[in-house]
Amino acid sequence: AASRVAEPAVAVDELVSNVPTQLLIDGKFVDPVAGRRFDVLNPATEQRLVQMAEADKEDVERAVRAARKAFDEGPWPRMGGKARGKILQRFAELVEKNVEELAQLESLDNGKPIFFSRNADIPLTANHLSYFAGWADKIHGQTIPCDNTFGNFFAYTLHEPIGVVGSIIPWNFPALMAAWKIAPALAAGNCVVLKPAEQTPLTAMRLGQLALEAGLPPGVLNVVPGFGPSAGGAIVRSPLVDKVSFTGSTEVGKIIMKEAAATVKPVGLELGGKSPLIVWKDVDVDKAVEDAHFALFFNHGQCCVAGSRLFVHEAIYDEFVEKAAARAKSKKVGDPFTDVEQGPQVDRDQMDKILGYIESGKQQGAKLLAGGSRMGDRGYFVQPTVFADVQDDMKIAQEEIFGPVQSILKFSSLEEVAQRANNNPYGLGAGVFARDVDVINYLTRSIRAGTVWVNCYNVFDDSVPFGGYKQSGIGRDKGEAALAHYTQVKSVYQKMETPQP
Ligand code: NAD
Repeated sequence: AASRVAEPAVAVDELVSNVPTQLLIDGKFVDPVAGRRFDVLNPATEQRLVQMAEADKEDVERAVRAARKAFDEGPWPRMGGKARGKILQRFAELVEKNVEELAQLESLDNGKPIFFSRNADIPLTANHLSYFAGWADKIHGQTIPCDNTFGNFFAYTLHEPIGVVGSIIPWNFPALMAAWKIAPALAAGNCVVLKPAEQTPLTAMRLGQLALEAGLPPGVLNVVPGFGPSAGGAIVRSPLVDKVSFTGSTEVGKIIMKEAAATVKPVGLELGGKSPLIVWKDVDVDKAVEDAHFALFFNHGQCCVAGSRLFVHEAIYDEFVEKAAARAKSKKVGDPFTDVEQGPQVDRDQMDKILGYIESGKQQGAKLLAGGSRMGDRGYFVQPTVFADVQDDMKIAQEEIFGPVQSILKFSSLEEVAQRANNNPYGLGAGVFARDVDVINYLTRSIRAGTVWVNCYNVFDDSVPFGGYKQSGIGRDKGEAALAHYTQVKSVYQKMETPQP
């Protein structure tokens, strides 16, 4: 039996009672105008955790006006970068100080095993804030000489904040996605209206509270839990919002892009994926099986970069497939507060969608080697599932499943696999497992994706840009590259005359 590494039975009520369940607007927690609330469920038990305030259009407009005022009247965008950096660093330290509480909230709300919330999600959230705190006083432009026949001039560039940023985030890494959006935006001097996913608003609310405690002025960060088309849509359509940054599905990304066109808002989109992971014939099979397993099953398959098209060379295919199935069968699934590797999927919709894909895999003739159904009848648990002999035209090889379903495809030549890997509308992540350096170089250059992992997978560093090619998105999160998406470049020309004696 799995051993308990935390005691949810004791902690749940107390834990959730610390979470603000109102909207964070202009530095205060306030009720929504219409007074509506929605249930936030524990995906492991299907029980209600809290009734969260639901922001609608009017509430979003209020939050946007608060952000607008904080931006236009200051002090935030006019504060020196060092002062902003200090506040962000304090924010990071408060997240670190509260890591256990935030980790437990994240696992309750999202269902991910406490081990990952405690050792990955929340520490990475703090790191990300700290990383961008360090950038706050290092954002500056260039000086450009520009003499021409009409005289001597020079120009310099100012990298100014864009203004009010609307951030809409998903439920798979609730706290970390909040940090990916707010850290660079705030470091550059913007003010933010953040809409967490309706499935998982708890840690975002606590982060909002910690930001205030860290000294963020009122209105600089507003948090408005609510639903996509209403609260999210109101952010995108508001003429007072200068930019939208979004992580989520490609389908919604397209809606956001269309709606943002009305006010010519720049959009940062980090969307879905169907990432190819290519295993060459010269690998250590056991190690490759384990790494490929992690590439797909990490976070229950709920990763935009999940290595969900696993191409294995024919020379090692049979051995690989057998071992991949055995590994999935050995996976410990259950209560996220015990020492399991996999908890429940985030909600019933996601579970049903995944089970639908599993059915389609069976019907279209893929070979089911592990899993294939729901686990139990309480909580949204799905068995770790492995399909072999998957063909490129099957639905499970083409569409994002976002669940614990590994699809293995066979290949025989390099050119063939490079072509098949690219034959998909997405281009977010990719992996190459090989020893031959020429094979590695050929594939890393051939694959059209924003990130390629070589002999590793799911490595994320704050300083490394992350984003998609093709329909996986526009722009980059993380690293110096992210700052460009949260700043405007102003060019100032100045004439130089010969001084009078
Ligand atoms: P989604 O795109 O529907 O939701 C993401 C966020 O967008 C949420 O905050 C949601 O409330 C908001 N939203 C939804 N409709 C909106 C609209 N019309 N206008 C503005 N905001 C809107 O994603 P989901 O339903 O949570 O998951 C569906 C699929 O998205 C998953 O199965 C997966 O394929 C993909 N997904 C991708 C990522 C990623 O990191 N790229 C993360 C989560 C989900």
